Amino acid sequence: MKEIFVRLDRCVGCLSCELACAVEHSRSKNLFQAISESPRPRRRLYVEYVLARKMPFLCRHCEDAPCVRACRTGALVQDPITRIVTHTPDKCIGCWMCTMVCPYGVIGREWERRIAIKCDRCPDRDIPACVEACPTRALVFMEEEEFARLTRLEAAEEVARSYRVV
Ligand code: SF4
Ligand code: SF4
Repeated sequence: MKEIFVRLDRCVGCLSCELACAVEHSRSKNLFQAISESPRPRRRLYVEYVLARKMPFLCRHCEDAPCVRACRTGALVQDPITRIVTHTPDKCIGCWMCTMVCPYGVIGREWERRIAIKCDRCPDRDIPACVEACPTRALVFMEEEEFARLTRLEAAEEVARSYRVV
């Protein structure tokens, strides 16, 4: 199963991911039209600046997700196979329990309709919008094994460079 992985050392804080996420969740899916839509299309991931580093935070679709357990109306459900947590706006009463229990603080609030908003992993796309928009490949969408191999290769390359063998 593919996941979105974050490579912190590559994030330059350009916010392209946040913008692409908001546009993907607009009615028009077009940047210039999305600007004037109401309710305002919102991002589902957040790039934070901590100790001089830029860190993109997004839903990890946790195993046994606390937000799903906290939701009293069934607005949040988790697919038992893909683990993706989805939100049904019609069932949401805006009690904000999910926002309070999310360990990563990545469930937002849309005040106009008083509903929670969260990452849905872009169900209409093969590659999530945030991943596609990232110019530095700080966000990648891959299988766990593939990501581990990529990390190993990059670490090996760094070690090799330090020994000046390449
Ligand atoms: S996967 Fe889609 S919904 Fe989730 S943060 Fe990325 S762009 Fe937003
Ligand atoms: S698009 Fe990539 S580099 Fe830019 S802020 Fe998002 S994660 Fe960081």
